[in-house]
This record gives sequence, structure tokens and C-alpha cells, in this order.
Amino acid sequence: MDSVNPATGERIGTYEADSTAVVESKLETAAETFVEWRERPLREREELLAAAGDVLRENEERYATLMTREMGKPISQARAEVQKCAWACDHYAEYASAYLEPEHHPSPPGTKVKTVHEPLGPVLAVMPWNYPFWQVIRFAAPYITAGNVGLLKHASNVPGCAQALEEVFLEAGYPEGAFQSLMVGSEKVDSVIEDDRVRAVTLTGSGPAGRAVAETAGKNLKKTVLELGGSDPFIVLDDADLDAAVETGVLARNQNNGQSCIAAKRFIVHEAVYETYVDRLVSAFADQTIGDPMDTETDIGPQADPDLMAGLHEQVTASVEAGATVRTGGEPLDRTGAYYPPTVLTDIPAGCPADTEELFGPVAAVYKVSDAEEAVDVANDTRFGLGASIWTADRERGERLANRIDAGCVYVNQLTKSDPRVPFGGIGDSGYGRELSGPGIREFVNRKTVWVE
Ligand code: NDP
Repeated sequence: MDSVNPATGERIGTYEADSTAVVESKLETAAETFVEWRERPLREREELLAAAGDVLRENEERYATLMTREMGKPISQARAEVQKCAWACDHYAEYASAYLEPEHHPSPPGTKVKTVHEPLGPVLAVMPWNYPFWQVIRFAAPYITAGNVGLLKHASNVPGCAQALEEVFLEAGYPEGAFQSLMVGSEKVDSVIEDDRVRAVTLTGSGPAGRAVAETAGKNLKKTVLELGGSDPFIVLDDADLDAAVETGVLARNQNNGQSCIAAKRFIVHEAVYETYVDRLVSAFADQTIGDPMDTETDIGPQADPDLMAGLHEQVTASVEAGATVRTGGEPLDRTGAYYPPTVLTDIPAGCPADTEELFGPVAAVYKVSDAEEAVDVANDTRFGLGASIWTADRERGERLANRIDAGCVYVNQLTKSDPRVPFGGIGDSGYGRELSGPGIREFVNRKTVWVE
């Protein structure tokens, strides 16, 4: 499995793919470890997770550099990602026992009825390259602490990260089978899901990958959680603080080189502030520093893969052919590496790719609306439903509108973000299930009812 630096096109590592026999042995190790791991006191599992957080912090620079070299995110953001992973470990190390407390229910006099939360077994996680550490820790920290064991099938372009993550858990003192990376391509995923030892599957990635995994899991009656990206609205109302809405809008669209499921993708702007807002957004997009992702001054590095960039550019070109206007950007940069500039499109025709598809790169589609009602209609006119962001000086107005947005999470005067304390996930084509916080850790447990007469 090759790892190629998208900033230079150079091959920076080659990793041996797991043979069928190695996969079999990892599955067996997972099943055997589960028997012992589930019996460990929760307090011990929490302590090990805190130790994993320490390993992440101690190795921040090494892990951040690895991510940046394998998929091109700016190094400052890679460092922040390692810190966020450590935070998630700290969070579940502190709160797992509270989240997994038994629930007591009303019951007939003289009886005691409760629900306890028991682990399911080995959980397969099919993960993407865009946040190569965070996406993995987001499943591993809660699910393994709940007593499951983890099998990671990472994206094929980040094999170095896959191995480094295994190292995090081993160095922290976890038993060998608590977290293992399967070094396999996507064609091997079905057979792993079908294996009786695997009890549940979580996937973060594209719609086609999610449907394929859910189909096989469904046939085998295994629970799934899917996080499949979105086309999040970023609504700027007439009373919004425009300084904040521009500054956050630029970040919300362009962070991680624009390759985030919860990036702001459709900017929906009230006509009273439209001209001013768009002019300022365009100028701020054009001011972003594009360059070597290892440079701490860089805002935007390369796209993770030249083919994905070509796909993004096709979406832009087709949108422009359908009538969209390019206000800045719009062409791949003429330099080595998969560099695509921050791009603003306006006059978005209904049905073009910028309107209906996820743009997984630094391209904003901007819409003009005449009032808040129309803003809600445009925001909801999508098959996706991951996050949304609303900008208004009136917090109550923001909250009222938030209630009418069809999405898994809505942020008022804040960018959509994931936070270990807060449930995260989508509806519609953005997937189902929740990660993080209490609901996240309880996704892959047996909620077992115990009735004592
Ligand atoms: P994919 O969804 O193809 O890859 C994500 C993960 O799923 C990888 O581990 C991949 O393995 C695996 N996978 C892919 N196809 C299957 C399958 N049929 N069965 C089982 N596993 C599968 O994402 P891409 O990297 O190709 O990106 C394509 C688009 O997906 C992006 O442009 C974006 O729109 C969306 N995406 C969304 C993400 C999010 O955060 N929600 C993250 C990444 C992508 P392998 O690498 O071996 O193919």
C-alpha cells in the first residue's frame, strides 16, 4: 500500500497489505481479546484511554507531520487534530462511566427494572483520509472504552496513519487485540463484515461506500453507524455580524483544504447584506495563503489526491456551464501538487453539481435570498442533512430558525464542528446514528433490560 505526498507527488512509504491469513489472525485476536477486555473494570479501561491521550500529546509533532505528508492538511491544523484526539480521550476517560450508568425504569411495586449497557464485541470501522486521526479516535475512544474491541480499515492513502494509530494504543498499554489496523483495500471489507466475529460496523466516507457497507451489514444483521458527508448551509441573515460571518465563513469552508463533511458548502445570504457579504467573502478567499502544507503560514495545502481534485474541478466546470459565476478561483493551480484555489461561485442554477452534490474541496456556492423564510427553504432543499450554521444578532430568532432546519446539528453564530461533549451525526443522505458524547458511546452496546421480581 503506497503513501504518496499530494504536495509533491512523491511516494513516501510502502506498506505491506495484509494477506487473508493475517486478516484471519487479527480477527481471531480481536475475538479472544474481547472475552478478556469486556471483563476489565470500566475504571481500568478509562485509565488506559487517558494514557492513550498522553501518548498522542507526547507524539504530537510526529503524528501531525505524518498526516500532513500523507494527505496534505496544513501542519498547524494537523497539530490541532492530534490535540483534539487527546481531548476526546480525556473526555471519555472522565465521562464513560457516567454515560454507561444503568437506566432505571418505572416498574410494578416490588420489582426492579433497569437497562445496563454491555459491549457487543469486535467493531469494524471503515474510515476516511480527511481527518486521519480524529475520525478514528472518534470511534475508538468511546466504543473501546465501552468494552468493545476495534478493527480499523483505514483509507488506502493513509497507511502510515493506520499503523501509527495502532501504536498509540499499544504504547498506552492496551492488550494487543483491543485496537488493530487491517491493512486491506475496500474490496476486502465485505468479507470482514460477514465474519461472525465482527458484531457491528461504523463508516465515515462517501454515500456509495456507506450504502455498500450498510447493505452487507444489513444482510448479516449487524448494526451500523454511517457518517456520509453533507452540503451544509451557512445562513447569513440581514442582522448578522458580518465581520464574524466572513471570518468564520472562510474558515468553515476552507479548513482542512475544504475537505470536511461539515464544511459550510452552501452560503445562503439575505439580500440586504448580499453584495457586501459576497465582496468581503471573495476578497478573504483570495487572500488565503496557498502553499506547502508543512509551512505554518499556509492556510490551504493540496487536495489529498489528484483524482479527487479532478472530480472537484469537473463539478465546478459543470456548474459554470450551467450558469454559475466564478467570483474567484475556479481553475487548478499550475504548479506541482494537487492544488485547488479557494473558489466562490454565485448565481447557482438549480440542479447543477454545486447545488445538489457535495463539493469536497475549497469551493463555496453562494445563494441570494429575500428573507429568512426563503433561507430555510433553500437550506432544506437538499438530500443531505448533516450540519447547518445560522448567523444573526438575534439569538432567539436564530434558535427559532434552527428548529426548522432539517439536519443532525445546527449552530447559531458558530461554525458547525464536532466536539467530544456534543452528539454528532446526520439525517437523510448524510447517514444515521450519532457519534460522540453519551449517545455516541451507547451506539454499540447491548442495552440489556434486567427485570428482578
Ligand atoms: P470513500 O467513501 O470511497 O472512502 C472512505 C472509506 O471507505 C475508505 O476507507 C475506503 O477504502 C472505504 N470504501 C470505499 N468504498 C467502499 C466499499 N464499496 N466498501 C467498503 N469500503 C469502502 O471516499 P473517497 O476517499 O473516495 O472520497 C470520495 C468522496 O467521498 C469525497 O469527495 C467526499 O465527497 C466523500 N467523503 C466524505 C467524507 C466525510 O467525512 N464524510 C470523508 C471522505 C470522503 P479505500 O480507501 O481502500 O477505497
